[in-house]
This record gives sequence, C-alpha cells and structure tokens, in this order.
Amino acid sequence: MDLKLVLTSPVSEAEANQFMAEKTPCYFPISAYYRRLFGEKVYKVSVSIAESCPNRQPNGKLLPCVFCDEWGSAAYHLERDRDLVEQIQINRDKIARRYRSKKFLVYFQSYTNTFDRVERLSERFDIALAQEGICGLVVGTRPDCLPARVMPLLRETHERSYVMVELGVQSFFDPHLLFLQRGHDAQRSLTAVERLHQEAGVDIGVHLIFGLPGETDAQIVETAEIINSLPVSNVKLHNLHVLKNTPLETLYQRGEFKPLELDEYSRRVVLFLQHLSPEVAVQRLAAVASRWDELVAPEWTREKLRPSNMIEQRLHNSGFCQGDRLAIAS
Ligand code: SF4
Repeated sequence: MDLKLVLTSPVSEAEANQFMAEKTPCYFPISAYYRRLFGEKVYKVSVSIAESCPNRQPNGKLLPCVFCDEWGSAAYHLERDRDLVEQIQINRDKIARRYRSKKFLVYFQSYTNTFDRVERLSERFDIALAQEGICGLVVGTRPDCLPARVMPLLRETHERSYVMVELGVQSFFDPHLLFLQRGHDAQRSLTAVERLHQEAGVDIGVHLIFGLPGETDAQIVETAEIINSLPVSNVKLHNLHVLKNTPLETLYQRGEFKPLELDEYSRRVVLFLQHLSPEVAVQRLAAVASRWDELVAPEWTREKLRPSNMIEQRLHNSGFCQGDRLAIAS
C-alpha cells in the first residue's frame, strides 16, 4: 500500500521509522502506522450501532459464526442503548484522559456495519466525523456484505476524511471457514479486498484467527504470503477462544474443540510475523475477552498484557522480527 496516498501529516517517513524502532523493534504496531498517517498518536473509539448481520437473520439460511456470542462483538446493552454521539463522547473522553490523545477514529465495531441502508450509514458517518477530535472512521464488516451501492459512500467519505474497512476474513482456507460457520468462502474475501481497493480506495485491515482445528504451519506461512500480496495495510490477530452460549462452547464441552495454550499460540504468531511484510501493520497480537463472565476457555485470554508480552518476548529472545523470513526467502 502506498502510504503517501493517505499521508496527512508533516511527519517524515524517517521520523516514523525512528519512532517504530524506538518503540518496538520486533514488529510494526498499528500505533506507529497511525503516527505515520496522522503525525501524532491516534486511538480508536469503539461504538456499537449495527444490530445484526447476514448470519443472524430470523428464518435465514445461515448459522451464527461458531465463536460469536449474542452481542456480535458489541458492547453490553447499557452502552449500546446510547445514541451514536453519546457513545463517541463517553468513549473518546475516557481514552483522551487515559492516553492524553487528541485525535481519534470512530470504530463501527459490532455485527456487520454495511448490512444496513446506505442512507442510514451515510448519516452515521457524517455524525461521527462532526464530533470533536475525530479524524476518520473504521468500519467493521464481512467480506460478503459489500453491496455495490456502499462503495461510492466509502470512496466519498475516504476522499474527505480517512476510512479504514476492517474485514472479518478470519481464514483463507475453506475448511476453516466451514468450521467457523462463516457462510462465505476464501475467494469471497480475496474479491472483497480487491473491490474495496479498486472501487472505494479505502485503507483495508484484515482480521485473522489462529488456532483452528487442523491448522498447519504451512497454512500460517501461506496466510502471511497472501496478506503480503494484497492491498492490505494492517492485520488484527485473534486466538480462537470459547465464549458462553456459542456453538463453539458446545463443541468444547463435547471435547471436539481444544483451544491453544498460550505458548503454542505465541509460536504460531511469531511464525506468521516472520513471514509478514514489515510494511503491514499489526493491530493486535491476540484476542482479549472483554466480557470476562462469558469466557469459557482458554483462561489466558482473560489477561490483557500477558499474551502480547509473551509474543514480544519470544521475538526478542530469539532475535526474530517481522518479515525476517521474507529476507531469507528472497
Ligand atoms: S461474527 Fe459477525 S458475521 Fe458472524 S455471527 Fe457474529 S456478528 Fe454475525
């Protein structure tokens, strides 16, 4: 991805690289990517506005994704019942106090945000961008929920501000997608990335899940290679974990699914990072169970810092860093 297309700040690439080197020599964190784009630290402010997705339609043909709880990655009702402006203000002010930041991206996180009328989506974008300190939008959605009519809206909004679409790709292997009950195949994800790039021109992030049954090291390496070949600026990594009242919980209770131990998960993430281009930013190294009462397994997903610390430590101790296996291969 050509970062100059969206570079809006006076910070030079050399300065951004120095910042990256000082902060995290082992991989390219999203904080450094944002700093490169905006010239200062920028944080995401999550909002829960969308209320459903194609997999959760009454009388629909699809099942909910195997890992998805009733909230669809949304906040609890207390927060979800507030209007968009209130959600932005409350969450923005909390983050501003904590990190002393002045710029924010509104993150439409829950369910499938493009599964709605374009007019309504457009209104929400305008409201979000009008709030103090908001410098752009991040829109979470599925690869199979990008109707042609939504592309002009994404393009127009990205031209006057900044838009990143975060795609729930999860895996590039059809057997894994079947297990996850995603309701789409890998080709759909590849097409979605291409269309977002060509038709909307937005920044693109991809969510990936590791720890799927039968997952091999070769698949992890291939996943990194696929990402490297796509116009994707960043990835967000999750470990497949079990939440209450999900189809995955049933499989887990029957002994048909076993989540990864932290040591093995961190080994797989390090392998992935070694094959990932150093130009692709990393949003997150592991999932954190934000609703502790809903977590069934593994226990380590409760801990916010231990998984990422272990991965960073592993990189550091072995002298590995993002993309170092790329250099060997070429
Ligand atoms: S993960 Fe997303 S697409 Fe899947 S059921 Fe949950 S809200 Fe729907």
